[in-house]
Amino acid sequence: MRRIAVVGAGQAGLHLALGLQAAGYPVTLVAPRTPEQLRGGPVLSTQAMFGPALRIERAAGLDLWAAEAPAVREVGAVLAVPPGVRALEYTMTLDEPARSVDQRLKLAAWLELFTERGGRPEYRALDRAGLRELAERHELTVVAVGRGELAEVFARDERRSPHRQPQRTIACLYAHGVGSPGPVAEPRARMHAIPGVGELYLQPALTLSGPCSILLWEAVPGGPLDRFADRPTPAGQLARIRALLRTHLPWEAELWAAAEPTDPGAALFGAVTPTVRHPVARLAADCHVLGLGDALVVNDPIAGQGANSAARAAAWYLAAITERGAAPFDPGWMAETFERFWQQHARHTVDFTTAMLAPPDHLQAVFAAAATHPAVARRFANTYADPADHAAWLADPRTTAAYLAEVTG
Ligand SMILES: Cc1cc2nc3c(=O)[nH]c(=O)nc-3n(C[C@H](O)[C@H](O)[C@H](O)COP(=O)(O)OP(=O)(O)OC[C@H]3O[C@@H](n4cnc5c(N)ncnc54)[C@H](O)[C@@H]3O)c2cc1C
Repeated sequence: MRRIAVVGAGQAGLHLALGLQAAGYPVTLVAPRTPEQLRGGPVLSTQAMFGPALRIERAAGLDLWAAEAPAVREVGAVLAVPPGVRALEYTMTLDEPARSVDQRLKLAAWLELFTERGGRPEYRALDRAGLRELAERHELTVVAVGRGELAEVFARDERRSPHRQPQRTIACLYAHGVGSPGPVAEPRARMHAIPGVGELYLQPALTLSGPCSILLWEAVPGGPLDRFADRPTPAGQLARIRALLRTHLPWEAELWAAAEPTDPGAALFGAVTPTVRHPVARLAADCHVLGLGDALVVNDPIAGQGANSAARAAAWYLAAITERGAAPFDPGWMAETFERFWQQHARHTVDFTTAMLAPPDHLQAVFAAAATHPAVARRFANTYADPADHAAWLADPRTTAAYLAEVTG
């Protein structure tokens, strides 16, 4: 069997490495952190996975938390206007439940699975020289280092990159004890948008200590929600969250009265520059590597696309590798493998995310229609699960208007 290297043990790299291993390929997996280090470290994402991506994981035998992780079918959406007024609300229903499993838990377990199946992860971080040395020893090297510095071996694709700087600053907290606004039969996520100011997402999830709530602020840089640049401790963040909720989303504030951070690593801060990179890097004459996941396509988390897309990309690459048979993994094949994935899926994640970062007028009309027409809210909800539908009804204002006219009469 042909020896393949995977650099990076995140959502994309581990999914691909485990798939290759299951298909009988000898895989070299390079991972900077051991399972213990992952579990003992800070949270990495909010990682909501929708039905289609979960089905891909299930088919690969990797959806190990279906029984424990809260299954979210409904998302309550509120459009709020200052000072803390609910202007519009609707409920979005997903056709298949979404789940969020703390990546510390998930990736640590997947790494252990890789080891149990006979793999030996190389626990180290590679630099450019190390990557080249590794690539020269393998027939194919896939670089899945996420937003790590090593992704810069892939040149930025100016034409496809929608932004040059972050459109939001991000603050995330995992908490126990967050209340719900009323009696709910099953787990429900909550979404608040304050136009021009930012968004707040709240989702039930599974973390190391059991079910929890994950809060994610998406703050317009320099605006009133952009208050976490000094990276407070989880307890400090919680105090600030309570104050921000009292001012901007007061109906949420009381639900946080008994909340506690889940653990010392419960907080995450940052900002993402949405970027698309060229898929093939030439490290030396006749030495090329192929990028995967966030290493090539980084979206702002506002539309929850990255981990879902990483799962799809891993499955896509696995199929392309196995179909390749004994033919060489040359740069042309690498470029084509990504290009087909881009056309089929990744471009839609970028277009949908870009629209959500600055909703154009016709998207505002969709939100308004969703408040009175559950069918519109449902289609919008399921566009998160399958962003290709964005092209079918949201990309062109005329198509959106025709759809809304049909549904709303
Ligand atoms: C706050 C936040 C919330 C998010 N919420 C969601 C969401 O709800 N839904 C969703 O779908 N997506 C979400 N995302 C995006 C999602 O987390 C990522 O898109 C996804 O994890 C990308 O997977 P990946 O494997 O490409 O990269 P990663 O998961 O980042 O994995 C990269 C791996 O490479 C390793 N690595 C880095 N550098 C090196 C090196 N030099 N050598 C070796 N290894 C290296 C890293 O340690 C890591 O293990 C969110 C992101 C953020 C920041």
